[in-house]
Amino acid sequence: MYLELSRQNKVNRQSLFIYLSIFILLILFSSKVFAVNSIDGIRVWPAPENTRIVFDVKQKPDYKYFTLSKPNRLVIDFKNTKNSVALKKLAADDPRVKLFRSSYSKGNTRLVLELAKSYQLTVFPLAPAGQYGNRLVIDLYDKSRSKKILSKPKQSVGDIIIGIDAGHGGEDPGSIGGKGTYEKRVTLAIAKKLQKVINKEKGMKAVMIRSGDYAVDINRRTSLARKKHVDFFVSIHADAFYTPQPSGASVWVVTKRRAESELAKWLVNREKKSELLGGGGGVIKNTSDSHLALALADMSKEHSLAVSFGVANNVIKELKKITKMHKKTPQNGNFGVLKSSDIPSILVETGFISNHKEEKNLTWPKHQQRLANAIHSGIKSHFLAHPLTGSYFASVGYKQHKVRSGESLSVLAQRYNISMSKLKSINDLKSNTLKIGQMLKIPRTS
Ligand SMILES: [Zn+2]
Repeated sequence: MYLELSRQNKVNRQSLFIYLSIFILLILFSSKVFAVNSIDGIRVWPAPENTRIVFDVKQKPDYKYFTLSKPNRLVIDFKNTKNSVALKKLAADDPRVKLFRSSYSKGNTRLVLELAKSYQLTVFPLAPAGQYGNRLVIDLYDKSRSKKILSKPKQSVGDIIIGIDAGHGGEDPGSIGGKGTYEKRVTLAIAKKLQKVINKEKGMKAVMIRSGDYAVDINRRTSLARKKHVDFFVSIHADAFYTPQPSGASVWVVTKRRAESELAKWLVNREKKSELLGGGGGVIKNTSDSHLALALADMSKEHSLAVSFGVANNVIKELKKITKMHKKTPQNGNFGVLKSSDIPSILVETGFISNHKEEKNLTWPKHQQRLANAIHSGIKSHFLAHPLTGSYFASVGYKQHKVRSGESLSVLAQRYNISMSKLKSINDLKSNTLKIGQMLKIPRTS
């Protein structure tokens, strides 16, 4: 009885398996006929001035789109495509898209985005890159954006404006550590801490280029900096390599020379890949500001480079005290975020996220604070020693000291209650040797 039953079960199971296989084949066949492509993911990234919507599609999307008014809608038709994404909660946190809905007919999917108002629109497909496959990207930009660029923000007179650029964001996670740490989160955390210390400093003011989890196009990063009248630009990143051994921080400045070392080449390629992940790389080149940037860049390149190197050296000096350095001198890089800027800039690689110990450190708030403090002190000491005309730091001023016989650097540092390294950096001294009669700058506060 028992045997019979189990045999019976076996037969039933076999036939069920055959029916199922036919059924699955039919589904596969019909999907081949009606819908070969599918939408497998939709991500919405609200930013202060735009919203980016990313559709993950199995294959290169075949699409058309148009807008409708009263009420404002964006309609996207995906040909031969099925949608497998739940749409209900997608627009919950976005101020620009009120609702996503879809309809399906004859193998085609129509997606309708109900919008809060009408927006400037960019739509472009992206080829597979990094962790992502084919995508269709939609950017909804506030129309008042161009006006905002022209209007001058209110600033208190004499503040040095520091643009803080947290690397990556949104669609672009940057490098990912072994424990799953996203570079974009580390950079934003350090950037926010740096913003706080800078804003506490009299004579300095921070401007955030990215303040949340969204992508900012490379061109947009520099045009935002220009729009906000940034005097100095610092881009924050965390390094990665394909092996876990490399560790330590490094500071980069722009150069026309091509990256020479293998690591430098690899890093630059990685950043290029990131641009593609987050910003569409060469797809969006519509900012008129970049032309302005090029014209200005030639004029101020020399000055800009000198300031960049000056700050880079000071930041390295400070970073050395709290972390291992991967490179002890400023590195030359061709990073887009530095290259297109007429504003003196540095890029700080705060450590290697691909190194287990440093990945842990980079997520540790105390270490993030130390990194922020070091970057702040480095920038400050440069602008104290070389104050911008009209800045508060210039008004703080220095007293002069004429070196007399028997006075050494350490004696003077002690007398004026200032560290020897600070005294050296303010006076651009390469060695500890002083000459009788030499004039030294001493900060008035010491
Ligand atoms: Zn990075």
